[in-house]
Amino acid sequence: MKSHTAYLTFNTSERCAIVHITPQVEAELARSGIKEGLCLVNAMHITSSVFVNDNESGLHRDFLEWVEKLAPYDAHGYKHNLTGEDNGDAHLKRTVMGREVVVAVTAGQLDFGPWERIFYGEFDGRRRKRVLVKIIGE
Ligand code: ZN
Repeated sequence: MKSHTAYLTFNTSERCAIVHITPQVEAELARSGIKEGLCLVNAMHITSSVFVNDNESGLHRDFLEWVEKLAPYDAHGYKHNLTGEDNGDAHLKRTVMGREVVVAVTAGQLDFGPWERIFYGEFDGRRRKRVLVKIIGE
């Protein structure tokens, strides 16, 4: 069995953002040389997400507005923020949007459904954060 590990770095200019990362993941798959296996992609921070959905900008605005309604930014409105942090909302947003995805690798390609793509969801950005890509197979 072969394995390939890579770390992608993001530093969004907005506090909350959705970034299409399928091209970076596909580049790592090509580098791995793996043709059959599994590709794990996970956020390495507890205030950001990795998820699969449609690459459609209106939907991305819907996601950001939806999580803002569920967990509005409020520097003093969360018990977590009693620790001196201001990102209680970002932890909650990350949890509903998910930590990771696993995509099958078939014939050297990410084996997506017709509209599936991989996204990085940032909920406490403007700093350097990482995503792990781990590909295993043959
Ligand atoms: Zn925190």
